[in-house]
Amino acid sequence: MRELFPTTSQHRVGDVDITLHGASHSVTGSMTRVEFDGKALLIDCGLGQGLEASRFRVPDDAHKVDAILFTHGHNDHVGSLPTLIERGYVGPILGTRATLAIAQIVLADGLRLQRVPRRDAERLMQEFDRLAVPVAYDALADHIPNVAARFAYREAGHILGSASIELVAKDKRMIFSGDLGRPDSPLLRTYFQAWSRNSNVDFVLMESTYGDECHAQSHDDVQRELERVLQRAMQLRGHILVPAFAIGRTQTLLYHLNALVESGRVQHLPVAIDTPMGLAVTETYDGFRSLFDREATDRISRGDDPLQFDDLYAVNKSSDSLRLRDHAGPMLVIAGNGMCTGGRIVGHLQELLPVESTCVLFVGFQAPGTTGRAIQAAAGKHQAHVRVGGQEVAMRAHIETLPGLSAHADRDELTAWLDAVPGSPRVGLHHGEPDAQRSFAQFYGSRPAPP
Ligand SMILES: [Zn+2]
Repeated sequence: MRELFPTTSQHRVGDVDITLHGASHSVTGSMTRVEFDGKALLIDCGLGQGLEASRFRVPDDAHKVDAILFTHGHNDHVGSLPTLIERGYVGPILGTRATLAIAQIVLADGLRLQRVPRRDAERLMQEFDRLAVPVAYDALADHIPNVAARFAYREAGHILGSASIELVAKDKRMIFSGDLGRPDSPLLRTYFQAWSRNSNVDFVLMESTYGDECHAQSHDDVQRELERVLQRAMQLRGHILVPAFAIGRTQTLLYHLNALVESGRVQHLPVAIDTPMGLAVTETYDGFRSLFDREATDRISRGDDPLQFDDLYAVNKSSDSLRLRDHAGPMLVIAGNGMCTGGRIVGHLQELLPVESTCVLFVGFQAPGTTGRAIQAAAGKHQAHVRVGGQEVAMRAHIETLPGLSAHADRDELTAWLDAVPGSPRVGLHHGEPDAQRSFAQFYGSRPAPP
């Protein structure tokens, strides 16, 4: 019998204490402290976003740990690292090579957005480089200096380099899911399920972003739906604005666009990647092709780059970004950030939301309290207004959402992941809105126990 614990921020497993400093009641701010033998590890040290941003506090002693283990490079999993370093953290920072490369881009961008003086930012980034320790997938490592624990990084299929962490300490076997992707996602390998059955798992902490929802769309459906949205938007001859997370979502979207353009299903649509971070991360993806799934690797070996196609433009300079708005005829603009709370998308929305021919296409989860969520809520309403970047903006654009493009597993996919874990672990849920966590606990508990 497995017991699931939604919205619980403290767990005790034998002699191991697990404390959730964030993400116990929300999808952002993942930071989990694992304590045993007077030692402590931090699994992720993210930032709160959306509504959570104002509530989120980095605990005073968060930096007093022996190691930090990153599951992946998203800001809500790594964004508090500069604070911890500033407070004196000097231990190792573990992650896969791809995660460390992405974290470097994300952290540097975060410091820039917070207007941290350049010299301080450089010092913090140098310190990050000095402390970073790359970890290979599936290798059982038995030493974090001075800590008696073994751990292994397992594919999580969420973004490039993402991992679930298997940790054995004080005879307890624990799995921290990190964020889990959808199986068979473009470019990425499917999350790891081949857990050793030689011993049972005692504790699982798992994400539950879509614990109450099924995406109902396969990756092929997503591509067809994207084609439909693009055809309709192209008839209006306006801008198609895609608020996209620079990491993961942008590359998945490029993959689908590539397929549509190269098969001739979408023609004559200029696509602008208007996010310097998105460009940098796309380059990082290119540098870690060995982590791609079989399908993408096969395409590359046939000479087809899945992230490149004609009519794709990189927009680095902000002056060029401004000019995109004057472009006549249909154009797709991918701009950050993904929930419209900052970045270049804000200016585009202020200018183009009042224009009837504009289409805003959401490709990711919009957390409560974010501008993206407000735009979704106002969709289809007569004379709607939304606050964007502190400005009241009339909304005449039409709004589309492609939930299947999500980088997160849905309820059934989370279920399949958890079913593959051996034993009868205590299962803590996090990284989900309270309703999603409770709904998943109820759904999972109502099913027969897995074999
Ligand atoms: Zn993530």
